[in-house]
Amino acid sequence: MAPLLEFKDISMAYHSIDQETQAISHLTFSVSQGEFVAIVGPSGCGKSTILNLICGLLSPESGQILIEGKNAGESGINIGYMLQKDHLFEWRTIFRNVMLGPEIAGCVTAEKKAYAYQLLDSYGLKEFANARPSQLSGGMRQRAALIRTLVMEPSLLLLDEPFSALDYQTRLNVSDDIGKIIRQESITAILVTHDIAEAISMADRVIILTSRPATVSSIVDIDLTVEPRTPLASRNAPEFKNYFNRIWKELNQP
Ligand code: ADP
Ligand code: MG
Repeated sequence: MAPLLEFKDISMAYHSIDQETQAISHLTFSVSQGEFVAIVGPSGCGKSTILNLICGLLSPESGQILIEGKNAGESGINIGYMLQKDHLFEWRTIFRNVMLGPEIAGCVTAEKKAYAYQLLDSYGLKEFANARPSQLSGGMRQRAALIRTLVMEPSLLLLDEPFSALDYQTRLNVSDDIGKIIRQESITAILVTHDIAEAISMADRVIILTSRPATVSSIVDIDLTVEPRTPLASRNAPEFKNYFNRIWKELNQP
């Protein structure tokens, strides 16, 4: 089976009148169907740029991005995007926030509404369907933001440091929560983070980037002997520390 996503020798620079910033240089990697991949790299190395290239907000200057074997623009798959801020609208109820995507896409059907309720129910937010975002905790808000993305039935989910606005304790719980939901829905996911432990605890594979311009420094398969492999349980796996040290060294090499 062809990989869901292929980055082939991608390079990209930002241009302004007086300056060129090379963000990505000869970047090659692929992501298989159903895989959870984390991308780690130093701040400012080009991680968000990679996600914006995947969803077509930016275009590469050279190289090829293939989705299901087709040029990225022609693939027609649904891509979900989750950011650091939940971007929930206070003037809408949780249900109407969750229905934002279908409204924009003009596909508000009875089935979509039922699916939205089903997701809210499955993931513990049914009683909050008519609440306003400010009535929810930070973790519940992130869950609502994830459900808003899932309603669009994405084949690929992009997560750009989605937990970095949360305090440490909440962050552990919310990443556990979100990680479990993504696994349960069997969605292919790419998580961008600068948090090594978060990457190891959530992903099947970690792609380590160099500092800017980003290129692949190395790729580490994560194999942890914990069952079930939830993000929180993963942190207690005997292999966890070795992976952490290995990736830490790789990121801090001169
Ligand atoms: P990361 O997400 O890894 O922190 P980014 O992908 O956001 O990094 O940015 C990579 C580099 O490109 C940074 O040096 C950043 O300053 C620069 N950059 C990002 N967006 C723009 C832009 N719109 N115009 C010019 N430079 C940009
Ligand atoms: Mg970023």
